[in-house]
Amino acid sequence: MKAEIIAVGTEVLMGQVINSNAAVISESLNDLGVDVVYHTTVGDNKERLFNCIKQASSRVDLVLLSGGLGPTPDDLTRDVLAQYLNEDLVRFEPGYEKLLDYFAQTGREHTKNNDLQVLTLKNGIALPNETGFAIGTYIEKNETIYVTLPGPPSELIPMLKNHFLPLLAGQKGVGAHLYTRVLRFYGIGESQLVTRLSSLIDTQEQVTIAPYAKTAEVTLRLATKLSENALDEVEKKILQTADVGEFFYGYGDENSLVQVSVDLLKEKGKTITAAESLTAGKFQSSLGDIAGVSSVFKGGFVTYSLETKADFLQIDVTKLAQHGMISEFSAEKMAEQALKLAKSDYALSFTGVAGPDEMEEKKVGTVFIGLARKGQKTLVEECHFPRNRKYIRISAVMKGLDVLRRELLENK
Ligand code: ATP
Ligand code: MG
Repeated sequence: MKAEIIAVGTEVLMGQVINSNAAVISESLNDLGVDVVYHTTVGDNKERLFNCIKQASSRVDLVLLSGGLGPTPDDLTRDVLAQYLNEDLVRFEPGYEKLLDYFAQTGREHTKNNDLQVLTLKNGIALPNETGFAIGTYIEKNETIYVTLPGPPSELIPMLKNHFLPLLAGQKGVGAHLYTRVLRFYGIGESQLVTRLSSLIDTQEQVTIAPYAKTAEVTLRLATKLSENALDEVEKKILQTADVGEFFYGYGDENSLVQVSVDLLKEKGKTITAAESLTAGKFQSSLGDIAGVSSVFKGGFVTYSLETKADFLQIDVTKLAQHGMISEFSAEKMAEQALKLAKSDYALSFTGVAGPDEMEEKKVGTVFIGLARKGQKTLVEECHFPRNRKYIRISAVMKGLDVLRRELLENK
């Protein structure tokens, strides 16, 4: 089965909204073995939208439209599809009742245009909206399937996953199940990774290996129609390749270095704190993204200036000034004092030059990361991330997480 996704909306064409809907839909369809062969974007214009639907009908079996289901005059998708298919629009009663309930409960004015959102094609199947009001439609006509989904991702995703995909899964040409696996790597660049795996990538016929560079990390997506075993075999070969396996840290699209590090802390019953200078709380904020982190993270320090480093962390100001804030000494003392004051098992420290100007004669991108460990010698790593401010700060956090993760793995 071949599919085309038509994103409807002038805001997408203008670059004000990134077409993330097409990405989400494509990924879901791929997993069902449906080939997405076109992404089209069209503005809120009747004639052009009509022509897009016509063109898509001539070249694919599944036409998915995202956006333009709302109540305002620029929301045209429902009307134009009805016109193209010569179908009547009817009210979807459960959706209408939900709308009435909403207006009764909020006391807001129920303007007539709101009712447009609960119209669907008479001979189609209505796709309920769990988080909004606009109803989607699924209809098969002339051996082509047409689907409408709302624009806001918070509405589109539940409708896609909970209502549309289950309907599609029963169709002919769908569900040649695709087995997929995402491997995540930190500390190796995409080009390096691909070079080291080049012969493996070239000789794979049944399993595709697709690399993606993310911010300061790389993922490999493995996909096959064969079986989980086929994925296991290729994964094994990848991880056994010299200078590759050592950079692997975990599985899955939703995974992250911080998730893996927090999981390890929990598993080992250890706590972490931090003293942050150039990252100004970014590391601790990343911990806060992880549900249940409170069992391993009680709090920490942001010490941006020389004075706060000395005051908050009780470091000898004269010595600190002597060595400089961006120094091995500073990273070591920041980590050790944070460990002591927060009474934790581990403490990371981050001090460096985020730019744009050099500091203490250290180049932009120079970062010292300390790891204090209860009862053991403190480790300090000097790193160089010669890029822009944003990248330097993210890289520092990622490196800190990796230092912690490796320490936790070594200390069984
Ligand atoms: P609404 O009821 O909010 O008007 P709608 O179904 O009519 O929803 P649009 O008006 O096309 O959809 O878009 C509403 C909002 O949804 C956009 O402002 C944008 O934030 C988001 N959106 C629309 N299309 C996309 C897309 N292709 N990818 C990501 N987000 C999108
Ligand atoms: Mg709209």
